[in-house]
Amino acid sequence: MLNVKNLTFSYHKTPVLKDLSFKVEQGENLAIIGESGSGKSTLLTVLYGEYDLSFGNIYWKDNEILGPKFNLVVGYDFMKYVAQEFDLMPFISVEENIGKFLSNFFPEEKQKRTAELLEVVQLTSFAKTKVKTLSGGQKQRVALARALAKQPEIILLDEPFSHIDNFKKQSLRRSVFKYLKEKNIACIVATHDKNDVLGFSDKIIFLNNNQIEAYDTPEALYKTPKTPLIASFFGEFNVINDTIVYAHQLQVVEQSHLKATVITSYFKGSYYLVEADLDGQKVFFVNEVQLQKNQDIFLAIQN
Ligand code: ADP
Ligand code: MG
Repeated sequence: MLNVKNLTFSYHKTPVLKDLSFKVEQGENLAIIGESGSGKSTLLTVLYGEYDLSFGNIYWKDNEILGPKFNLVVGYDFMKYVAQEFDLMPFISVEENIGKFLSNFFPEEKQKRTAELLEVVQLTSFAKTKVKTLSGGQKQRVALARALAKQPEIILLDEPFSHIDNFKKQSLRRSVFKYLKEKNIACIVATHDKNDVLGFSDKIIFLNNNQIEAYDTPEALYKTPKTPLIASFFGEFNVINDTIVYAHQLQVVEQSHLKATVITSYFKGSYYLVEADLDGQKVFFVNEVQLQKNQDIFLAIQN
């Protein structure tokens, strides 16, 4: 397992990551979330051994992961890292890129492995296509498959589905995360997209102000978000009487002490998100049907 102890890191003087401690078990899926600039990408590169720590230690089982000061070649066989900006070989095919680091002494195994990974990233029909002709999202999938080719014990993924269009995203997420679980590969995903996390991650680390603001299961963080920032990751919410109330927990009722006036309704597919004025405070709630502007309504908090 990965054991991170009191990790502190700075590019220059001020720390970007302060005193982070956490563990990742074999096969576990950990999400690192936080706003842009909160240090998600930095954390992954530091875990990969690209930089020297200011303080603290990182272990994978009994191996200490060391930065360039102590390690001539960055990276280890048991750990793979897929950056936000992936570098592939543009003039060779998708399957050649994926198989690049697989031995040619076992052509059958190489062929089988490549075919399996093409399926995981849903690119089977592009096997012979030159990478330079692919879209950004397709290239991202090739990078993912290539990182998995030698079956690492742990994989670090930086916004792994950010370039992939919405039509493909959800089925690709299921395919990749299912594969990682089946192979018992530990995975750390840096993302700001809740869809990369919910249903897939075992634990979440919330980075804010260079520190771990929360570290728990998705369910626990969702049910009792400690701060508005955490709640905002999960969806629209309100702060009513100092309590965080998600939009779907606020409902229209016949009569209550929360009288509001409708401002506007947003069509969201299976529901409407309604924006209303509650004593001068803007609130959001979920409703099955569209509500008219300036209509007076009563709201109640449901659990
Ligand atoms: P995130 O991935 O969460 O958006 P980053 O890890 O990219 O955040 O950035 C965290 C902070 O570190 C930011 O303030 C960013 O400007 C800074 N930073 C990132 N990369 C470098 C670098 N190579 N050199 C100096 N500062 C950097
Ligand atoms: Mg980033």
